[in-house]
Amino acid sequence: MRENGSFLNDISRNLMKRLRLLMGEKMPPLERLNRLVEIVAKELRVDVCSCYLLQANETLELFASYGLKKEAVRKTKLNLEEGIIGEIAFQKKPIAVSDVWADPFFSYRPETGEDDFKSLMGVPLLKETRLLGVLAVQTKSNYLYSEEETELMENTAMIVSEFIASNEETFFTLKAQGPADDRIEARRLNAGLAIGQVFIHRQTRADGKLFATDPLKEIQAFHQALHTLQDDFEKLAAGTDVTQEQKTILQTYQMFLKDKGWVQKIIESIRSGLTACASVQRAGDEFCERMRRLNDDYLRERSYDFQDLTQQLLGRLSGEDWEQKNKELPEKAILAASSLGPAELLSYDKRKIKALVLENGSPTMHVAIVARSYNLPILAEIENVTTRLTPGETVIVDADNELLYLHPALDKIKEFQATLDKREKLLKEYAKLKGKPCVSKDGVKVQLNMNAGLASDIFALADGMAEEIGLYRTELPFMSAEQLPNVASQIEIYKKALKNAEGKPITFRTLDIGSDKVLPYVSHREEANPSMGWRSIRLTLDRRAILRQQLRAFIRAVDGGVLKVMFPMVSTVEEFKQAKQTLEIELQREKEKGGKLPSNIQVGTMVEVPSLLCQLDALLPLVDFISVGSNDLSQFLFAIDRSDPMIWERYDVLSPAMLKTLKFISDKADSYNVSCCLCGEMASRPLEAMALIALGFRKLSMNITALGAVKAMILSLNVKETAEYLNSQLNQPVPSLRERLRFFALDHNIVIS
Ligand code: PEP
Ligand code: MG
Repeated sequence: MRENGSFLNDISRNLMKRLRLLMGEKMPPLERLNRLVEIVAKELRVDVCSCYLLQANETLELFASYGLKKEAVRKTKLNLEEGIIGEIAFQKKPIAVSDVWADPFFSYRPETGEDDFKSLMGVPLLKETRLLGVLAVQTKSNYLYSEEETELMENTAMIVSEFIASNEETFFTLKAQGPADDRIEARRLNAGLAIGQVFIHRQTRADGKLFATDPLKEIQAFHQALHTLQDDFEKLAAGTDVTQEQKTILQTYQMFLKDKGWVQKIIESIRSGLTACASVQRAGDEFCERMRRLNDDYLRERSYDFQDLTQQLLGRLSGEDWEQKNKELPEKAILAASSLGPAELLSYDKRKIKALVLENGSPTMHVAIVARSYNLPILAEIENVTTRLTPGETVIVDADNELLYLHPALDKIKEFQATLDKREKLLKEYAKLKGKPCVSKDGVKVQLNMNAGLASDIFALADGMAEEIGLYRTELPFMSAEQLPNVASQIEIYKKALKNAEGKPITFRTLDIGSDKVLPYVSHREEANPSMGWRSIRLTLDRRAILRQQLRAFIRAVDGGVLKVMFPMVSTVEEFKQAKQTLEIELQREKEKGGKLPSNIQVGTMVEVPSLLCQLDALLPLVDFISVGSNDLSQFLFAIDRSDPMIWERYDVLSPAMLKTLKFISDKADSYNVSCCLCGEMASRPLEAMALIALGFRKLSMNITALGAVKAMILSLNVKETAEYLNSQLNQPVPSLRERLRFFALDHNIVIS
């Protein structure tokens, strides 16, 4: 190589031209691959060009080489992470070294005759995110490859990848073995159960034509597709059933489409000879890959948005027909995708979609947010989901238990169908409880509230099951925005929530960001233990403007009505005082500006950090209410990372330790006559809710889907009797009282199912 600037452009043009000619020639795939590595080596003026392909998901096999000994081909094999080639494959990113002999990763393979070669540069061969292999070049001299040269190799790799992927049978002789079991463990992004037929969401790829003869025509086609997509997004955003969050996501997409750097990159690529489709694909893959390599969860997730956008654009370029796709969609479709963007999900007929099963995904991905607003069960982290499932086959999505059942036997289907029917029946039963007061058999009134995180979550409150929104998590719109939402847009979001609540109070919790909820526009340093790091109230007290703006937005959104504010992750009384003082400053500011002040203000705090337990005597006189965050409280009480499934089942919230802690809080609050609620996941489970009421809690805030079951439990409960029993058990030397409580409930006809 060793060329720069315009000379490198010439090399690139020639290389592309020769590859294009090669692809047009008729010959067997293996021969084509041999010719290909030779052309690459010669055009790039290097001594070696080799292609390693990943077999059975575990071994990188030397499949073709120009420059290495012929005997090594199909013989030399490396494990993933073995040698520099293995490292490139493992990291899925290019690596260049000027002297392999000085590199600790280097794994010498004498059969290849590589003794004389010093420099090495390799790039991954990828189809979407799937690793196909590695393309590498070597030289006899110590050579340090430039960024431009690496980029040229990446462009070449894209063409090689397309060719390899379209000849899978030839190149991948060993197939990866999936687990024999027909039950796949997955990660739940939204709970629920569904039975349906698989519909594979196929990604639109720039397959086929890579090279164009008329760049001007391609540029026109690209602009046309860009405009069509912009129009389509505008129409989607203007739809009547679109939620505020969906609108925000679509607006972000429209911004992406206007990004000059991205558009320019595509146009340049078209000018270099690629088709519009291939250029869009290349730019999309490149951006996504770069974003995925970043050590930042938020940006990694946004890479799926970019992929979504690329898909949409490719779809418009290739005349993709959504109407036809929706016609082909089974009536009860389980949508399987390696990754799926919100715009794609919005393009499907949502009446037919019953669940999502994804290869990639996390709870804060945009598509998960959109899917939750449709109440779809979602399972993620299912490796090779689109190849493991067959279109049309019946599967069971048991997102409650994080399982996907393939090829279920008829009796399994019947069993799950019965559960689904039972749930439907129960929902109808619960619906009948709506008007009834929530009072136990012995006359104890319990207030049921609901948790929400999106304005759209709140509609069901109007049905009368929940009395208030006991916890409104405000993070989501902040996480899905590109920059800090300003006061006006925050007001709009909170107003919408209040409108949906139809006069019922909402307890707004100030931002609980940090930990796993990172905002791209708030700089964060690496933290070893982010859930115990710079998060939540710690962050907003340090970045006071964020807190002040949010409090201002709350004050204005309630527009003279009741304002309930709660601060998360408070560890000291001092923190609460500072937070409350900040609210007072904002109230004063509003007054001076002549704005409307809330008719009633209630300020409280979450109790979720154990240090606060020792400060309740100082804290309780200062607050109007407290709400126990049992998710975090149990995490810190047991010193157990709540996001790590390997360990979070070790300790039970129904252990005497946790229950005694909760009783201590509830008793203390009672002694100060302060309202005490519990808003963690515990409240959503009937057995746990039973224990909480027996401990003294009279307010529980839970997921909307749990309201019916918890209310049914309360209506069948004798609080006095249960409290006596539970109190008699609290000092038992056992790790959990779960089984004892379950038997107690069964013996006393308490409805805990
Ligand atoms: C909790 O910790 O219990 C809680 C409700 O807060 P979050 O789950 O949002 O951390
Ligand atoms: Mg919490």
